[in-house]
Amino acid sequence: MTASSQKGIIFNIQRFAIHDGPGIRTTVFFKGCPLRCWWCHNPESHKILPEKIDGCNLRRGFDQSFSMDKDEVGKEISVDELMYEIIKDRVFYEESNGGVTFSGGEPLMQPEFLKEALVGCKANGIHTAIDTSGFASTEILNDIAQSTDLFLYDIKLMSEDEHQNYTGVSNQRILKNLIEVDKLGKKIIIRIPIVPEITDTNENLYAIRGFISCLQNIIEIDLLPYHRIGEGKYKKYGRENKMGETKSPESDNLENIKKFFSDLKCKVKIGG
Ligand code: SF4
Repeated sequence: MTASSQKGIIFNIQRFAIHDGPGIRTTVFFKGCPLRCWWCHNPESHKILPEKIDGCNLRRGFDQSFSMDKDEVGKEISVDELMYEIIKDRVFYEESNGGVTFSGGEPLMQPEFLKEALVGCKANGIHTAIDTSGFASTEILNDIAQSTDLFLYDIKLMSEDEHQNYTGVSNQRILKNLIEVDKLGKKIIIRIPIVPEITDTNENLYAIRGFISCLQNIIEIDLLPYHRIGEGKYKKYGRENKMGETKSPESDNLENIKKFFSDLKCKVKIGG
């Protein structure tokens, strides 16, 4: 185990996760995200600093030895403390070809902490994945990629204007970085949120398929249906929910989209 006093802010550790990469995984949720996607179901992840939110009670994912206060979202933790939590489940990673996924929020917003955690995992022979929006400097991404086995990389909208409107940022850097990660030969799972009338339009899906068909290292495409489970959190935290009454996509539509991407000859899944 590496010795590191580098600290970062996370808001959850989810053990036995099976939707964030291969095998049984521990998913570490970093606090802070530069995007503001209308459909985000983790609004508590947006601000980078810990917050007090009445009644949020996010403790359940944490081991008892590492619990937050009931109303606290986000906790400072050192790499050594995090590695202690991660290594507890090593036997499950080994038996299932699993590992650790760093998610959020956006893990690339805390690059030094992330890098040291990744290096700690690699030193312990643990498979590493990053779940990212790709919105970071290319320099940071290249550095982080050295210790990352797998990228779970979101593509939301190909139109720059729509991306700006629905997420608050341009998609130019995100798409450029995806090409960079592909050039490095890293395995990539593309994750596409399927949000009715926003991301599920023919125009957007054709554009996404065209873009990723030129990449060499896509091993899987995950279609992530919009759902309303985050709705209550927006009310509870007093934050604006721009999705209104939008419903989850119909299962027939999801199957059609799955078929549409199957031409790319990689695994396509509905859900993570
Ligand atoms: S990138 Fe993910 S965490 Fe950030 S706002 Fe969008 S959905 Fe939420």
